[in-house]
Amino acid sequence: MFFFYDPRYLCFMAPAFLLMLLAQMYVSSAYRRWSRVPLRSGLTGAEVADYLARRAGVAVRIEPVRGFLSDHYDPRTRTLRLSPDNFYGRSVAAAAVSAHELGHALQHASNYKPLALRSAMVPAVQFGSYLGWIFLMLGFVLRWANLIWLGVGVFAIGVAFTLVTLPVEFNASARAKRLLQQTGLVRGQDEVRGVNQVLNAAALTYVAAFFSALMQLLYYVTLASSFSRRD
Ligand SMILES: [Zn+2]
Repeated sequence: MFFFYDPRYLCFMAPAFLLMLLAQMYVSSAYRRWSRVPLRSGLTGAEVADYLARRAGVAVRIEPVRGFLSDHYDPRTRTLRLSPDNFYGRSVAAAAVSAHELGHALQHASNYKPLALRSAMVPAVQFGSYLGWIFLMLGFVLRWANLIWLGVGVFAIGVAFTLVTLPVEFNASARAKRLLQQTGLVRGQDEVRGVNQVLNAAALTYVAAFFSALMQLLYYVTLASSFSRRD
């Protein structure tokens, strides 16, 4: 934990934290605003997802899940879980989020490569987040540069994961926007603008997560290289 007393750590991470904070504020304000605007077609988020799934001929289970913006698609059980606001809500925001999550189900059904790659990386990333720390700490304690670099390498996998997440998320949103307009579930310029705002704000949070992971990695790289030089 000695990194956090290093002023260089803050130099690397302050811009990333700021971007994450702004993205989070932007997504909550866009979501709050458009969850108050009723969808003219009058469907709930669950009905929107169900309609789009049937139209695409994709079998997917749709169920509510507790939490705020806890919406996700579970590829293992082909289940779309929507938060109560989106499952029951009849708002522009609910349609946008539900259609986005259904976009992931469509990616899965069409064997969209980045999604498969991302899913394959999940176990390595979960395991790696602990292992990276252990290698890094042990490396510094034992003063063993190779172990430090190994830790840096493990963290790089995590950065690659946040990078692969970007096309997956952008593509799901692009599918959602297209389908909502094609089917007429979203009508008029104001509803289209609402869907775009909610989904673009959500996309920004993934960009911020990637940037933050990248800056963290760069910080470790500078630590490791200054350690290597010293020895
Ligand atoms: Zn998504």
